[in-house]
Amino acid sequence: MTVVPFPSRSGMADIDMPVVAAWGMGLDSTAMIIEWVSRGLRLDAVLTADTGAERPETYEYLPLFQRWMNARGIPNHIVRYVPKRFKHWPPYFTILENCLTNATLPSASFNRKSCSQKWKIAPQDKWVEQWPPAQATWRRGGKVLKLIGYDASPADSRRYDHSLGRTDLRFDYRYPLREWNWDRLACARRIRAEGLPVPVKSSCFICAAMKTEEVASLPRWCLRLIVLIEARAAPRLRNVEGLWRSSTRSRPGSMTAFIRSAGLLDASEIDAIIDGAPVDLIHFQQVAAQIPLAERPTMRNWIDRFNAGVDQLARAA
Ligand code: SF4
Repeated sequence: MTVVPFPSRSGMADIDMPVVAAWGMGLDSTAMIIEWVSRGLRLDAVLTADTGAERPETYEYLPLFQRWMNARGIPNHIVRYVPKRFKHWPPYFTILENCLTNATLPSASFNRKSCSQKWKIAPQDKWVEQWPPAQATWRRGGKVLKLIGYDASPADSRRYDHSLGRTDLRFDYRYPLREWNWDRLACARRIRAEGLPVPVKSSCFICAAMKTEEVASLPRWCLRLIVLIEARAAPRLRNVEGLWRSSTRSRPGSMTAFIRSAGLLDASEIDAIIDGAPVDLIHFQQVAAQIPLAERPTMRNWIDRFNAGVDQLARAA
């Protein structure tokens, strides 16, 4: 890959500055990486944070773009938040399993950003902290350049405005799509021109940012897990109705209510999940608490059992 120097924010060319791109597996960051590389600009690592609950189409896109990056010799890595202290809980490893464990919803549903910080930003920062080129750069007082795929649309402009003025002793940030004045349409065009399919908007399928049509496009196993997570959290919810927080004119605050009214799952199936699954999960957690950590079943084990059970129920109906 040709490597050319580029001006840092301060305007100085710094050819020793390691460059890392955050690839969120969605439209913007995919287009950003394609164009950045095609301009012959330096790119040392691409990091993707996997929350374990991305949309199924996003997981289908992942190997496709990994192949594209590998073919061009671009080092790319999947990073994850790895919980270590489980106390008496069954071990959990994804944002969904974390929420089910604690009977809560992602913080995005409470209008906070800590889920993104915990499951996306922190694992990337941790990876860079252990990366020898970054360590060497920091030792000599330099910074690592992080490329962020905010586009030039009004929504991303707001996110960009919030990030302005951010100072970091270890990182410089660049927003190439904004420098090129690219909106989502331009990003889609660039990806198509590369001969790649355009990825769907990436987010957890349990994210408050999911649109109704995106929820409607989910497979049944995702819809059931949405019903489950809302049912499990329901007793502890005070000021929010569900994953979407509160109702608007176009949708309810609860994704379960939307799934029910849109007929995406049978009412009997939804009721069976609400009535049975949270109780069964609490029982599972109580039993697991008695088992030493090394032998303790995981939340994944319970979810597999849940998926198999509801599948069986649906087939019998
Ligand atoms: S996609 Fe949504 S739910 Fe997932 S980490 Fe980001 S803000 Fe949280």
